[in-house]
Order: sequence, then C-alpha cells, then structure tokens
Amino acid sequence: MKHLIDPTDLTRAETDEIVALGEAMFANPAAYAETMRHRKLGTLFYEPSTRTRLSFTAAMMELGGNVLGFADATNASVAKGESVGDTARVISCFADILAIRHPVEGAPFEASMTSLVPVINAGDGSHNHPTQTLTDLITIQKELGRLDHLTVGCCGDLRYGRTVHSLIKAMARYEGVRFVLISPEELRLPEDFRREVCEKGGIACREVTSIEEAISDLDVLYMTRVQKERFPSQEEYERVKDCFVLDAAKMALAKERMAVLHPLPRVNEIAVEVDADPRAAYFRQVEYGKFVRMALITKLLEWKDRDTPSHRGLFSDATLRCTNPKCITNADPRTPRRFRRQPDGTLVCACCDAKAASLK
Ligand code: ASP
Repeated sequence: MKHLIDPTDLTRAETDEIVALGEAMFANPAAYAETMRHRKLGTLFYEPSTRTRLSFTAAMMELGGNVLGFADATNASVAKGESVGDTARVISCFADILAIRHPVEGAPFEASMTSLVPVINAGDGSHNHPTQTLTDLITIQKELGRLDHLTVGCCGDLRYGRTVHSLIKAMARYEGVRFVLISPEELRLPEDFRREVCEKGGIACREVTSIEEAISDLDVLYMTRVQKERFPSQEEYERVKDCFVLDAAKMALAKERMAVLHPLPRVNEIAVEVDADPRAAYFRQVEYGKFVRMALITKLLEWKDRDTPSHRGLFSDATLRCTNPKCITNADPRTPRRFRRQPDGTLVCACCDAKAASLK
C-alpha cells in the first residue's frame, strides 16, 4: 500500500504528478467536486493544528467526500491508554484514508504499520511534514514556474523545524538546487541530517548567520518560526526567539522575482509590512496547500497497490534500540522496534531515522 510518511515515499515523478494534479484542481475545482463522493478521510490529530487539519478537511470536502476523526487527543481513546498503532487500526475500519499528526516522532510510521488504508503523515515532532512540503513545492512551481535550478534559503529554526527537514529531502532531488541555511548556531540543521541528506547526496549547502549575507542570491526565502514547544527549556527558547526578522529593508536587497514562503503560523519572524510585497507568497501558499492535498488524497487512493519506500528492508532486532529520546519506540515501549540498514551500512530506526545503538 502507498503511504506518505517521509517525502521520499513519493518518487520525484510521483511528486511531480501530484503537484501537476494540484495545479489542475486549482484551475478547475468544479471538475473534481464529486470524485470522492462516499469516501471518508480520518483525521487523527494528537497535536494542535489549524492549517493542516482544516486544509485536509476542506480538501476532502472540495472533492465531495466526508471527514471524521479528532482534533484533541484528550477526548480520544489515547486517554484510556490506547497505542497509536491500535487507534490507527481501529479508525482505518471506518475511513478510506487517514491523516495523522503527533508530537512524538515516528508515530505516523507506526500507524502505517497497522492501518488497513493509506496513512498520511501530517507532521511528527521535529521529524517530517511531507504534506507541507507538497504545499511548498506547488507554491514554488506556481510562483516561479520551476522546481529546478533554484537557490533556496531556509531561515530560522532549522534544528527543530520539521518543514525544513522535509523540504530539503524533497528538493534535493531536483537538478541544480542549492541551499543556503540561515540560522543561529543553536538552531543549525542537525549534523546527522546534514551529513545524510546534504553531504552524501552531493547537495550544495552553505551556512550563514544573517539574512543580509544571503538574500540577494535567493530565488526562494523559506522563513520558519522558532519551535517554542520543542525546546528543552524556556530559557533556551528566550535566547533565540527573536533571532531573525524579515522586514522591508531586507526585502529591498532581494531579487525582483524571489518568493517568500512560510509554513505558518508566523510569530514575529516576518514583519507585517512585508505582507503587501508581491513576493510575499505565504498566504497564497495556504490556498495552494488545499489543492495539493486534494491531489494527494486522490493519488494515494489511486496508487493503493504501489509500495511505500519507508516500509522496505525492515527488520526487528531485540538487541538494538533507537537513540532518539523523542522517538515513539522510546516514548511508548509497546511499539515494536524495527530498523533498516542504510546503503553505507549504518543501522537506523525505521520510525524516526535516528541511529540505532546496542541495548547493552
Ligand atoms: N505549521 C508548521 C508545522 O506544523 C510550522 C510550524 O508550526 O511552525 O510544522
């Protein structure tokens, strides 16, 4: 079955097909208004969400389908101690496709191991957010007309921001894409991620510590919020919370055709004065997100008999554990520990991609 847990569960060709269908749906929504009649989307949201959950809901409604699920896990069976795997297995009896968001990394993967229907990762901890990435890709395509030969600046919380992690994984597959990573020292892209995705993939990545150093080179400026809820202490958050603010003076240094994206919500990292700049694409991005989710739901149901790369080459080993304390295998010890071997021989956790270590 085809699930979307990691952005690379879709090949580049499949990703392009979804983006193209999203564009067609944007141009002519009426043509798709009945295509999901009598189909149901189950939404399992264990973490606050405005855009993503409502965007999925609106997407299913635009296609003529229905939505069931929960937006607050305190009212769900989890409060009685049910595991994510069991909840997903149960709700998959009622719905044709599931979207799950969870603060614990790897929870959507675990849901995809038990569900009878396709599972979409709607954000797991600091790990991945592949449907935000599809939203970002359709936005770049619509704003700039291409996804290759672009210089993309990722600015802000590159450490905890899952949207940046997924965007880099997905965009690294397009020709001539270069990244400029703009963050304070404390919020740099995690070293393992940089090595695995950027260095091993031969992706050009330059690190800088100010927007001014990079902005004139960029085709896309991807701003992010400092992820307050993921910091180990309030004090650490306070130190970096105002690290970058994009304002009109900085925009004056940028190319005329640059696109400013932001997954939202914005706190203070983009001054309100930037909203009127035609290069500010973040509210259009929200709108495109609904259409790309309509396309994703349609394609995953059509591709049900394709496989999921995240499920390939898994094995269990009772002598190994995941080294990520935020992984579901550590947060809920009932979760089966599964691993996969990377091409270079490294063993990683199948749920969250962190390194595996011996239990001893
Ligand atoms: N909405 C995005 C997410 O769920 C970005 C954010 O929360 O800052 O990751």
